[in-house]
Amino acid sequence: MVKNFVSFDIISQNSIFCFSVPSSTLELPQAGGNCQEIKVWYNNIMKLEFKINKTYLLVHALKQQILPFPEWVGLKNYLWKMSPQGYEFLIGSPEIFLKISNSKEVDKIIRKSFQLIKKGIKRKEFRRLYQETKEYKSWLEKEWQQSKNKILKWISEISRLKLPSKTITVFVTHPKLLNGKILTEKSIICWGHPEDWKNYSVVYLTHELMHIITKEKLNSHIMHALIELMVDNEIRIRLNKKGKYFKEGKFNVGHDYLLPIEKKILPEWKKFLMSNKKNLFQLEREIKKKVDLNI
Ligand SMILES: [Zn+2]
Repeated sequence: MVKNFVSFDIISQNSIFCFSVPSSTLELPQAGGNCQEIKVWYNNIMKLEFKINKTYLLVHALKQQILPFPEWVGLKNYLWKMSPQGYEFLIGSPEIFLKISNSKEVDKIIRKSFQLIKKGIKRKEFRRLYQETKEYKSWLEKEWQQSKNKILKWISEISRLKLPSKTITVFVTHPKLLNGKILTEKSIICWGHPEDWKNYSVVYLTHELMHIITKEKLNSHIMHALIELMVDNEIRIRLNKKGKYFKEGKFNVGHDYLLPIEKKILPEWKKFLMSNKKNLFQLEREIKKKVDLNI
């Protein structure tokens, strides 16, 4: 066992999990606390709650170029015909501002766009979108439940950061469309994506979680590259029990603009994985000082 790490056995339903966490992150029940209490403590760290917000689901699907299913275009046309300006506002089309000359018009257009939302939610195309997203949400929740203990153990061990005891809401969107965003200040993840490879969604939910954990470093390319090395690569390979860095089948893994940084800092990353002297923030600072990233 790694120094400064404390290990536990957790009995969960039919299986026993053995995991270790850095002693610095511990806020354990009093001595003598039983397994149940420890389990409750562990489950309280970064709990994910999966939800669907109908307005968000609708507007997200209207805004995308890709269709969740061919009939969706019928709803797009129906709403556009009802109010072209309200529709343009809803999907964030910048051209709307070429057509507006005063704030009174803006108020009118906003009201129109809210009417479109109400109408859209009642249509059969939306009912199908909602039903398919509900099924995807149930699947996603199960995927997360199956892997979360392993994942939280790994991100705690690898990053050596304190994992906050907070609930994070995941707003789920249709799985054929593309979504992966965080609203850090509200502890919200927006997620919906085709499962391009095994454990894809679970890996990227963890990626977004790491953005929340390291929020003060959100604008740093180095921290983003470290998150991709840790989650998109290391945790993906651990979960899938096979694979290699930067490639999964025919897919490249990670953002194109971060790949040159990731390849350059890979030796520092590998050393970090093998040692237990510093945490992820300290590694980031060290890389900033030591590695010339003018790529
Ligand atoms: Zn990211």
